[in-house]
Amino acid sequence: MITAKPEPGAGLSARALNLIDGGIIVVDADQQIVVWNGWMTPRSGRSAARVQGHPLWDVFPALRGSRIEAAVLAALTEGTAAAIAPAQDRTPFPLREAGSFDGALIEQAVAVTPFSEGGERYCLIEIRDVSGAAVRERRLLDHAESLRARSYVDGLTGIANRRHFDVALDRELRRAQRVGGALALLLIDIDSFKAYNDHFGHQQGDRCLTTVAQALAAMLKRPADMAARYGGEEFAAILPDTSLEQARAHADAIREHVAALGLPHAPAAVHPHVTLSIGVAGVDGGRLNQAAALIEAADKALYAAKRSGRNRVVADGDAAAGG
Ligand code: GH3
Ligand code: MG
Ligand code: MG
Repeated sequence: MITAKPEPGAGLSARALNLIDGGIIVVDADQQIVVWNGWMTPRSGRSAARVQGHPLWDVFPALRGSRIEAAVLAALTEGTAAAIAPAQDRTPFPLREAGSFDGALIEQAVAVTPFSEGGERYCLIEIRDVSGAAVRERRLLDHAESLRARSYVDGLTGIANRRHFDVALDRELRRAQRVGGALALLLIDIDSFKAYNDHFGHQQGDRCLTTVAQALAAMLKRPADMAARYGGEEFAAILPDTSLEQARAHADAIREHVAALGLPHAPAAVHPHVTLSIGVAGVDGGRLNQAAALIEAADKALYAAKRSGRNRVVADGDAAAGG
């Protein structure tokens, strides 16, 4: 490391400069190198003594006509600073892993900063090795993806996803059995949703799903209640400590609430507004105390609601549910 005019304390700053984990170059107004820190030496194969006083472009002819040259000239003549991200040019300086002459080029982020000292213009060039950054970034993205996959939240609607529903239903069923309590399940399906998508497009369909999901979640007030996206345009609600009759009334309130939103439906739909059909089933005295049996009963009731005209609630055991 060299400086044009050593000052008191310069030895200390020179030592510190050489400890920096990155390249530091300073060129003067004639674009000649006046500072070249220790990081540069093994990666360029050139010591400070060899490059001192030489124009930067003689040391790195490849930089002629590059973004780096433009940035350095702009810094020296106009005093403008610049950052050259690796996205623009991954390897502007021909630098390689310390001590290797045929290794891969180091990916770099470069910052160019003008400054004045003793009436002279200088330009500071900082070079950071970001070779590992791309790999690290990829790893972080992979990690985020796996977290999402393991997460319990439905990405579109923000309510619980199917995985969460399965876990919660199991837990609530066991709790109901332990305390001999009631438990109800609602399966909720948007009416004529295929027609909605066909008419308004899939993106509007997604927005409609989110609106319905949020309306459903808002209707479940007790802390142990849970609204989940069961799949596609189907939702489920778990209502602990709720009898079949109470659940039927609650399902009807949900149905009415969504119908009252007045969301316009497709002309081909059976109702002019977005409506729900809901199947209800409940655990009572040991019957339907397995998740699969409870879901099947609610699904049968839902099917009966569809068959009998949609925009309605059918509970397990109703005549319409087919016994
Ligand atoms: P029904 O009244 O009998 O329920 O008729 P439907 O058209 O709603 O029933 P069907 O099951 O035939 O169609 C469901 C539609 O839901 C088809 C599918 O394109 C749509 N769908 C499922 N998942 C999504 C989603 O994530 N986004 C959007 N926009 N549409 C979805
Ligand atoms: Mg469906
Ligand atoms: Mg449907």
